[in-house]
Amino acid sequence: MGAEIARERRRPPVSEPSPSPPEATPGEPPAKKAVAPPPFLLDFFPLEDAKQTRLSPFFDHLRAGRLTTTRCRRDGRMSWPPRVVCPDCHTSELDWVDLPAAGRIYAFSAVLMGAPLGMEADVPFVVGLVEMDGVPFRLFGRIVGTPWETCRIGMPVRPEPYDLGDGRVFYRFRTVT
Ligand SMILES: [Zn+2]
Repeated sequence: MGAEIARERRRPPVSEPSPSPPEATPGEPPAKKAVAPPPFLLDFFPLEDAKQTRLSPFFDHLRAGRLTTTRCRRDGRMSWPPRVVCPDCHTSELDWVDLPAAGRIYAFSAVLMGAPLGMEADVPFVVGLVEMDGVPFRLFGRIVGTPWETCRIGMPVRPEPYDLGDGRVFYRFRTVT
């Protein structure tokens, strides 16, 4: 008699639904399949807010259409990327200065495969070094506006802000034709 009861308890009721995933709770709409963002540590520029970085003016300027960097108030050294202290004299007395609104392709390459995480759909795309008059360094960045097959060294480009779509902004270069 006791064994019979135990068997009865082990048998699942016929009406019981098969196990469901947690997101399919009865009475609630199924959870939308979200595209996962890239892992945090693979995101090179996750923090643009003033609470997170002293370089936040760079991103604020970019949102306003200005590509800027820092220049030392003591020795006049212009740095790239922007700094919070001068690499030469170590002062934190730096000014934000505008970079020229135009430059030229110094060197470039096309990414045809093996794109960074999150950029697979952009392939093929162009990255390169841009030189600007009066600027003692070259800037690396994405170059848009001309297919890689017709990009040429010396081609004029202008920097532009690029909205990353999640509240952040970055810069890139667009060819001027
Ligand atoms: Zn300095």
